[in-house]
Amino acid sequence: MSPNNSSILSIFPFNTKVNSQGHLVIGGCDATALAQEFGTPLYVLDEFTIRTKCQEFRFEFSKRYPDILVIYAAKAFINPSLANIIKQEGLGMDVVSGGELSIAQSAAFPPEKVYFHGNNKTASELKLALNWGIGRVVVDNLFELDLLNKMAQETNKKQDILLRINPGVDPHTHRFTTTGILDSKFGLPLTTGQAEAAIIRASSASHLSLLGLHFHLGSPISEINPYQVAIELALKFAQKMKAKHGFDLRELSPGGGFAVQYTPRPKIPSVSDYADAIVSKLKYVSDKLNLAHPRCTIEPGRGVLAQAGVALYSIGSIKKIPKVRTYAAVDGGIGDNIRPALYQAKYEAIVANKANQEMTTKVTIAGRYCESGDILVKDVVLPPLSPGDIIAIPASGAYSIPMSSNYNAVPRPAIVMVKDGEPRLVRRRESYQDLISLDIN
Ligand SMILES: *Cc1c(COP(=O)(O)O)cnc(C)c1O
Repeated sequence: MSPNNSSILSIFPFNTKVNSQGHLVIGGCDATALAQEFGTPLYVLDEFTIRTKCQEFRFEFSKRYPDILVIYAAKAFINPSLANIIKQEGLGMDVVSGGELSIAQSAAFPPEKVYFHGNNKTASELKLALNWGIGRVVVDNLFELDLLNKMAQETNKKQDILLRINPGVDPHTHRFTTTGILDSKFGLPLTTGQAEAAIIRASSASHLSLLGLHFHLGSPISEINPYQVAIELALKFAQKMKAKHGFDLRELSPGGGFAVQYTPRPKIPSVSDYADAIVSKLKYVSDKLNLAHPRCTIEPGRGVLAQAGVALYSIGSIKKIPKVRTYAAVDGGIGDNIRPALYQAKYEAIVANKANQEMTTKVTIAGRYCESGDILVKDVVLPPLSPGDIIAIPASGAYSIPMSSNYNAVPRPAIVMVKDGEPRLVRRRESYQDLISLDIN
């Protein structure tokens, strides 16, 4: 194996290997054999990596700060089998729709560990949440505050809430995934007085119990400083609200957005780096301001799932444009992973059936969809390619499948969970029949 390949292997699921045939092996399963058995495009999720990541977040945060709840941000990807794993690992879940909530419900997820986020939750979604008895609704705006209070009254419940504040901190990520700056649709700005108005109104709401504050700056955030700046702003705000309105901060969430290695370089902070930065700031500032240490809730999505996932594709047409570029087309693309087109997201790739061969040829991996922007990986160096080769893209566990579409009426991929050399289909491939199953003539 070339040295270059071994550094790429480090961003694949834990224990990914290359066997004596030069085939990539994930969770003990030969990726080439998986592609043959289940077809391509195929998403492979490694159960060991998912569980290890859950444990790492719990361990790194709770050893520094006892009152920690790690909740998994389901929008990175959720289905019943994953919900079960998250439940077994003792994490909570952050949901952003009635749909995600119902998937959690289908897995008998403990409702008290479910947090409901979103900037425009509908009345029917809030009703689902109230009826199930979920742990927290994270209220995004004043409209929602009044709506939820009214609905809680109607269902005769008192709902625990956090307020999502907007601290006005730039996390230096893509503008489409920046959420904590003033000019954002998310959250109650600290600087405009809206956050204070919400504290006053929530404190006197008959059917709401205000437990604390939440912010989420954006993602992925590859710096630790934005979290620290925002924690200080949130705690100073809490102290001011305590003095003015008797507000008691019992819980604070700095959100999610922890970066992952989509490519081996540049190196991003480790979970322990994030934990260190967040916990030390939280302790230091709350002590300085004479505030009791609040419960801290953190919300990793991609941090739990991205590394566990590998996308497998088959190479079809290879188009050489002399002195310009070589396009190698695969059987997937923006329909199953829109991130490169939407966010200019960068990925790596290797050839799963030639993982021990020397990488000598620069190619651009194009998708099969009718869009010129449908490029998965630009200018990657691989062994010489032929049709039928299997391309493996690492760090594909988060925000690929959940953002997938049926564009060009292409059925969506299957998902297989691997563990100890055993593959288990956790979502079957869509069929042509599925494509018209909702339509009425
Ligand atoms: C998207 C989101 C997350 C998770 O973001 P990741 O980058 O997947 O960690 C956490 N909290 C909130 C409120 C979010 O919107």
